[in-house]
Amino acid sequence: MLTQDLTYLTGVGPVRKQLLQSELGLSTFGDLLMYFPYKYVDRSRVYLIRELNGDMPFVQIRGQILSFESFDMGGRKKRLVAHFCDAERRVIDLVWFNNVSYVTKNIKVGVQYIVFGRPSVFNGRLNIQHPDIDKAENFELMGMGLQPHYHTTERMKRAGVTSRAIERMTRTLIERLVNHAPDAIRETLPPSLIHQRGLMPRAEALRIIHYPSNADELERARHRMKYEELFFVQLHTVRQLHNRRASSGGILIPRVGELFHRFYNECLPFTLTEAQKRVIREVNDDLRSGHQMNRLLQGDVGSGKTLVALMAMLLAVGNGHQAVIMAPTEILAEQHLATITDFLGALPVRAALLTSSVKGKKRKEVLDSLAKGDIHILIGTHAVIQDHVVFHSLAMAVIDEQHRFGVAHRARLWHKNDRPPHVLVMTATPIPRTLAMTLYGDLDVSIIDELPPGRKPITTSHITDRALASLYDGIRRQVAEGRQVYIVFPMIEESEKIDLKNLEDGYDQLCKIFPEMRISRVHGRMKAAEKDHEMQKFQQGETQILVATTVIEVGVNVPNATVMVINEAQRFGLSQLHQLRGRVGRGGDKSYCILVTREKMGEDTQRRIDIMCQTNDGFRIAEADLKLRGPGDIEGTQQSGQALDLKIANIARDGLLIQQSRDDAQRIIALDPDCRLPDHDAMWERARELRPEEDWSKIS
Ligand code: ADP
Ligand code: MG
Repeated sequence: MLTQDLTYLTGVGPVRKQLLQSELGLSTFGDLLMYFPYKYVDRSRVYLIRELNGDMPFVQIRGQILSFESFDMGGRKKRLVAHFCDAERRVIDLVWFNNVSYVTKNIKVGVQYIVFGRPSVFNGRLNIQHPDIDKAENFELMGMGLQPHYHTTERMKRAGVTSRAIERMTRTLIERLVNHAPDAIRETLPPSLIHQRGLMPRAEALRIIHYPSNADELERARHRMKYEELFFVQLHTVRQLHNRRASSGGILIPRVGELFHRFYNECLPFTLTEAQKRVIREVNDDLRSGHQMNRLLQGDVGSGKTLVALMAMLLAVGNGHQAVIMAPTEILAEQHLATITDFLGALPVRAALLTSSVKGKKRKEVLDSLAKGDIHILIGTHAVIQDHVVFHSLAMAVIDEQHRFGVAHRARLWHKNDRPPHVLVMTATPIPRTLAMTLYGDLDVSIIDELPPGRKPITTSHITDRALASLYDGIRRQVAEGRQVYIVFPMIEESEKIDLKNLEDGYDQLCKIFPEMRISRVHGRMKAAEKDHEMQKFQQGETQILVATTVIEVGVNVPNATVMVINEAQRFGLSQLHQLRGRVGRGGDKSYCILVTREKMGEDTQRRIDIMCQTNDGFRIAEADLKLRGPGDIEGTQQSGQALDLKIANIARDGLLIQQSRDDAQRIIALDPDCRLPDHDAMWERARELRPEEDWSKIS
């Protein structure tokens, strides 16, 4: 029944079917059933007109239209007003600006209607604009509990396929299922799980989601469907994790190797933190296991991830293989090359850069040497995953700042070698645990929870642009003591031009304010060489101030810089602010971060700024960010969230369910790794249905 085409449903012809398919991707009964309302409106109460006021949300009233009046609005525009009166003979105006002809054709004087809309005040009179209006008799047939609202598109609305139309379709469908195919909706979760978690059966939940009679049962139905959705995500990732661990398809790197030892003894300029040592041990254990490593390395800004990545790469290189590190921007790739070359000193390791700026003969030379195995460590942007980039023997791939890359990038790296290389994914933005569990649930996790010794905490303060004069004095004092200063202007890709102008104006102004200082300037539109040159000047202390857009957000490392000024801080997200702040506080000197906003700011901005001023702890900031913005807004998670295609669960709000479903998935995979237990048949069947492309054959 559920695989039947939607055209078999009363009220859906080929045209509607086509629309539902192209706009919402719905083509079968089952698809429609899984198209959930995004909100519900309580329609159990009918108001009297005298009870209404302009501050109310959506309400409904019952009565009839006394007369219509139409006003010309200039051009072809018309305003239509219906004088609507209820049982107490009070009157309110219903107003339409669009679809006027539809209303005059279909809505009649003297018929009893239920009017649904939001009252507002216009010229001192109460009215309702563009109300939903239904014959009262129809409505009473449908029942008046919680009314579901479904998302539709403009195209659908124009063709009359509104939320109401979808509501009618789902009701028809559910009635048909209840009366003719009560067993069509099969349970997908194992009985033990349903019992243990006290979940509502699936058939009931699906009916109630579209057709709730009260808020309690709706909540239980939604809970069930959210759990199910998250559970199948977890079942998939946990299974992948399990398969990888169970298979022996990884590149075996049995020894630490001479190279690593030499690096450790001859090159390391400081002692590793305990956290760094632990992570390197974890990586080394993976490499010796014969399984492919897929590890997420989380660590706050400045915690020393680059060094850990380098040492992981040296394990591969020291065993005769190659390694690659992929960074999100050219500047960062270049910086990695500089840092790594520096660290390596005289060791016989060849590192090379590959970005889209490496062209012509140089590029050919890099590609040739790479294919021959003469380059040991390749450093680059996503240029390194292009198909024509061929390695001799790639054993270790490091992805820096994963949130800028999609999951697909990771997969492409896997195919750069006959046996998939070990993968280390590094994120500087700590990800809240439940989010990580969902987005990176198939990765093992290592955490660097300790900063290198000697770091002084950064003092963060907020000023408005009125207090700039005292900020400039502060900057002069720091520079007089030999320190350096970042001044950041926002950059938003869509309006690069305006932002560039902001930056240029800011730069000119700063040159006037600080005539005695030398100032560098970098932004995303500069040629790589030019950027590099400006950065070099700052890095070497030739300039005291670096004026920049967010291109410096990640990875830039100048320990002598102690002041970070962020202009128009309201335009940055929390994790971005935290990243920027992480550029200072890298040397032994006390550092400052100053957030500049206008006098007036929104509540949201105020909250972000308060959090920044209160804490330096990246994990706390990430949690707060998730709460404030929701996971969809956090950089990069949008794609990942969409990739997960969650219909009802919310990664930010359903943390507990994520945890529970992960625990359950782990238990089930441990119990039934080969998909054999009869109790799990329906579950595996559903899992296959959700991911037909997956290899479902038995493990190992
Ligand atoms: P992340 O990439 O995690 O933000 P980096 O790898 O850029 O951090 O490291 C920040 C700075 O700390 C670099 O200058 C690096 O050389 C330095 N560093 C790394 N590990 C240590 C350590 N164990 N002791 C002292 N300094 C370290
Ligand atoms: Mg880094």
